[in-house]
Parts: sequence; structure tokens; C-alpha cells
Amino acid sequence: MEFSSKLLENAVNEISQLPGIGKRTALRLALHLLRQPKENTHGLSKALNQMVDDLKLCKSCHNISDTELCDICANPMRKTDVICVVEDIRDVMAIENTASHKGLYHVLGGKISPMDGVGPHDLNISSLVEKVKSGSVKELIFALSPTMEGDTTNFYIYKQIKEFEVETSTIARGISVGDELEYADEITLGRSILNRIPFENSLKL
Ligand SMILES: [Zn+2]
Repeated sequence: MEFSSKLLENAVNEISQLPGIGKRTALRLALHLLRQPKENTHGLSKALNQMVDDLKLCKSCHNISDTELCDICANPMRKTDVICVVEDIRDVMAIENTASHKGLYHVLGGKISPMDGVGPHDLNISSLVEKVKSGSVKELIFALSPTMEGDTTNFYIYKQIKEFEVETSTIARGISVGDELEYADEITLGRSILNRIPFENSLKL
């Protein structure tokens, strides 16, 4: 692609780094941003800068937050002894939309996946085990997507905590295998949280 402007070319190159965006789409988007009133495009770049500079991870559950403790952890109405273990923030959003979980979350930041070079130590697992060890957790609900990586991660955590006094459950598999949690519809997901089964039972299936 030949550009008459180095500035435009730079912008197109940056935009085309985004997932699913080829050079042609990047050029269309760049030209769209150029045609817009300047303050709209400035607003976009300001929002992006603030997001990368100022976003924090909640020091308790590792959810993305604007404050040290996220709104969910800081909410006194939540049950602090029931923790739903999820892969990432999209799962927190999906489960919050169902309004079926009144407890807290623990965001792992991914799943164990040797193929992608992700081991247990790349994830927020040790802080979860510490919470369980402290005796403040009555139940852990595993809500990872029902894939091989999700199952491996659940089982790894289960092994770490089974000697402690804590119940473990897993969301009912109303969600078909391979579906990611975030794409499940709210009613199915909500029901699968309410109808969760003891984790040990899921191992026998
Ligand atoms: Zn939190």
C-alpha cells in the first residue's frame, strides 16, 4: 500500500495491529477518524491513554478496576465467603449480568495451557490458595469455560485446596462444550450458576 503521507501510514500501521483489522480496514478507519471533528478523535485517544495509564487491577480479586479495591469487593452487600473463579474480566461481566451470583470473584487472568506456554505460575492462583488457607472462604465456584484448559485449571486449583475446609462446586454444564462463558446467554448462564454441582461429581462424569 502506497501512502502519500507518512503520518497516515503510521496511523494505519498502528490500527492494523488490532485483532481482526487488516490494512484496508485500518485505512478506512483512519480516514474516518480524519473526517470526524478533531475533538472526537482527541476524545478517543484520550480515553485510550487514560485506560492504559490509569487502570488498576483490584488487589483482592484481580478484576480490572479504577480503584485499589474493585466495586464488587468493596460492596458490603456481597457475600465474602463465596468466591467465583473465572478466567478473565469478560466472565465477571457476563456473570454480573445474570445477577445470580451474590459473592465475590477471583480473576485468574487466563487458563493453564501448555500449548500456549501458560503455566500455573503465570496465573493468579497462589493468591486464591492463600485466601482459602486463611479460612475466610466457604465455597469456591469454578466457572471456567468447559474446555480441556478450563478443566485442567479447575483440577490444578482443586488439588491445591482440597486439604482445606472449603466446598468446591462447578457451574452446571448447560453451556455446550467449547462455548466460551462470555457468549452464553444470560438465562442459561444464570441457571448454570444456581444449579451448580459439587466439583467432585463433575470429575466422575
Ligand atoms: Zn475485587
